[in-house]
Amino acid sequence: MKKLSIAIDGPAGAGKSSVSKILAARLGYAYLDTGAMYRAVTYEAIERKLVDPEAVAAMAEALDMEVLPGQDGMHVITDGRDVTPFIRTPEVSGRVSEVSAIGRVRKAMVALQRKQAEKGGIVLDGRDIGTTVLPKADIKIFLTASVHIRAVRRFKELTEGHPEMTMEDVEKEISRRDYLDSHREISPLKKAEDAVLLDNGELTLEGTAEAIIRICRSKFPGFDA
Ligand code: C5P
Repeated sequence: MKKLSIAIDGPAGAGKSSVSKILAARLGYAYLDTGAMYRAVTYEAIERKLVDPEAVAAMAEALDMEVLPGQDGMHVITDGRDVTPFIRTPEVSGRVSEVSAIGRVRKAMVALQRKQAEKGGIVLDGRDIGTTVLPKADIKIFLTASVHIRAVRRFKELTEGHPEMTMEDVEKEISRRDYLDSHREISPLKKAEDAVLLDNGELTLEGTAEAIIRICRSKFPGFDA
């Protein structure tokens, strides 16, 4: 059985990265968190105090970005430095949708993502994998849940590092990011026509991974997991 390419798209807090990690570990596949790549570009733009989209684009095109598997998930290295610990702050989350809407930034990231995926045997999570990055992915999933459920999940993750954030702040931030990501001009967040819609509001992360494995089996009868 050939190794599949599995695209998992959906809004913030749907559990894409946790589910993708479970799937990749279970299948012995690579895992690419494409959101982390846009976050790393955003972090660099903040560090370098870049605001003008042209300047951000030029920086992203010149950035030496590497993605490496780590025990705790994927690590992003920019110009030789592991920036993974700095890319999930509220400051980066607040600017990432603006940075990821820049066409030249997307072009640079998509080229890297396609290169990583060319051999198959990979789970990619993002917003535009099924529509743009890998329109021929073997399996496409659009993973979602209500804004409230997604906000509750994010709130649990965030409260340790940022006790000042309220549940209301988190819900607002998620809704704002959903809106920006699905209304941008280039590669907006949307379900690919041939993606399977999976609402995991009532599923655990393991249960969601299991549901995706069942989808793989039904599409590829020889699929073995
Ligand atoms: O998945 P995560 O929440 O870390 O993604 C951060 C942001 O990166 C998203 O809100 C979106 O603006 C951007 N993104 C994107 N395309 C992807 C993955 C993420 O535009 N494939």
